[in-house]
Amino acid sequence: MIIMLRINKITTGILSVPLKTPFKTALRTVNAVTDVYVRIETEDGLIGLGEAPPTAVITGDAVESITGAIEKYIGPKIIGRSLSDFNDLMETVQGSMVKNTSAKAAVDMALYDIRSQALNLPLFRMLGGSGGVLESDITVSLNDTPQMIADSLAAIQNGYKIIKIKVGKDGVSDAKRVAEIRRAAGTDVKLRVDANQGWTPKESVRIIGAMEDMGCDVSLVEQPVSAHDIDGLRYVTQRAATPILADEAVFSPRDAVEIIRTGAADMINIKLMKTGGIHEALKICDIAEIYETPCMMGCMLESRLSVSAAAHLASARRIISMADLDGPMLCASDPFTGGPLFDGPRITLTDEPGIGILASGINFMTGTGNSASAGI
Ligand code: MG
Repeated sequence: MIIMLRINKITTGILSVPLKTPFKTALRTVNAVTDVYVRIETEDGLIGLGEAPPTAVITGDAVESITGAIEKYIGPKIIGRSLSDFNDLMETVQGSMVKNTSAKAAVDMALYDIRSQALNLPLFRMLGGSGGVLESDITVSLNDTPQMIADSLAAIQNGYKIIKIKVGKDGVSDAKRVAEIRRAAGTDVKLRVDANQGWTPKESVRIIGAMEDMGCDVSLVEQPVSAHDIDGLRYVTQRAATPILADEAVFSPRDAVEIIRTGAADMINIKLMKTGGIHEALKICDIAEIYETPCMMGCMLESRLSVSAAAHLASARRIISMADLDGPMLCASDPFTGGPLFDGPRITLTDEPGIGILASGINFMTGTGNSASAGI
């Protein structure tokens, strides 16, 4: 039973985890995951953990803005507050400032971590799920075609049955590239294509049509056009036989309502860093369930802490029928102990309370180590 659970300390830190190989999309090239971590403590001694990657080209959030948002705006609003008033507390986090969804997500998941620990339940169970195993795809970065074919074959060798191909830089020749990857990968593998806003609406229709004609058998095309171009996204969705998944175009539940109600996309990619955490992501799940719009649970370049929170949510809601939670598998090392098991494409939820990641194993010495406490 939750009685007090008063928040008395919030600490932020930074951890850098190298990637196995550089991550390249139509928007950026990245060599390491350098994320902000948050640790929230209650008077009773419970500790919740959260993580936020600075994905400036998508969310607008940088390391400095995430730590600043947590230390100066969100933290002071929730220090001294109790988790016994949970919904109100989560609305306070969301209402503490506009935007800054990554900072909100890190705080949000730390609070969900604490609440489920207090109930002695794994987070997925507190969210109403029964656990199990998720199957994730893996991202093949945007490189020259021979490299992308080699990366796809290596992924298949490592047990992946779903591959997400990054395109969006080469216009119509992207279709030829996907066709070559399909030819090399064979017919047993699912291919997802992510253009990361790289095409115009008319280009998208032409490229997707060409992929269909060449027998690429692509399961979905993710965010073909600019995030802000909802009319363009709808133009593509209405003309393509291949399902269209909205990613950068959907941050909030309000965005989801608009996309779904106007038929701008067939599916939605939910990422905690876009929604501002689990509290808002659950609202998108509710909306998507009402309209029977399939959802993908996605992640940014994140390490295992925040991706584990996403995995708990994905396993708790049936409308999330696709997982793109490959962040931890792209990292060269794992700084955490405990929590869901990531083994190639398989993510297995475990029965530890909360998210499951152990606070004791985390070294904040590499971070700013700034903290705010009650009474200061
Ligand atoms: Mg995407």
